[in-house]
Amino acid sequence: MGLYDHNQYVSLTMEFRCNLKCVHCMIEDTMDRLKPQSLESFEELLAHNSANRQWRGLVLTGSEITLRRDLPELAARARSAGFEHVRIQTHGMHLARLDYTQKLIDAGVNEFFVSIAGSNPETHDDITQVRGSFAKAVRGLENLDRFEGVQSITNTVVTEKASAFCRTLSRPWRMSARSNRWNSGSISQ
Ligand code: SF4
Repeated sequence: MGLYDHNQYVSLTMEFRCNLKCVHCMIEDTMDRLKPQSLESFEELLAHNSANRQWRGLVLTGSEITLRRDLPELAARARSAGFEHVRIQTHGMHLARLDYTQKLIDAGVNEFFVSIAGSNPETHDDITQVRGSFAKAVRGLENLDRFEGVQSITNTVVTEKASAFCRTLSRPWRMSARSNRWNSGSISQ
């Protein structure tokens, strides 16, 4: 199974808060109204997959899934229920804390999909509107590189604002040396 076998993955939105303010964010104005999936839905999905083995991977996403304090528990329960792959989609800032990254990996998160908005602090932080967000995301990617068996993917939303520096994104794409993969993602207006 590859990282891009999308039919092998099921995705659950388990959080609707975020501590960045990306200029391209499509849900920023609605986060306070949107409801994440309930724990009951999460448990139903685990039970369904235990019985039917429909998917091999679970993607836990949100706005920013690492704002959930129980994320390690969710990941551990998913792995116990038979998911071989637990992926989180994140802006990567909280992965800058090595102890937190270690905790997620120990709990069973083995794939990290990290959003990189720009190629340097100026461009990235200009888009996320939070100073220091690039430095933390990069430190998070470096932390992930310390762990065997962990896959990292980067995603970059290509906007008009971002297009001017897209070619320079080769630096963060090359930054990870081992098993990590890099891809460029969505296009937005
Ligand atoms: S990280 Fe995602 S959810 Fe958060 S502001 Fe940026 S685009 Fe929106």
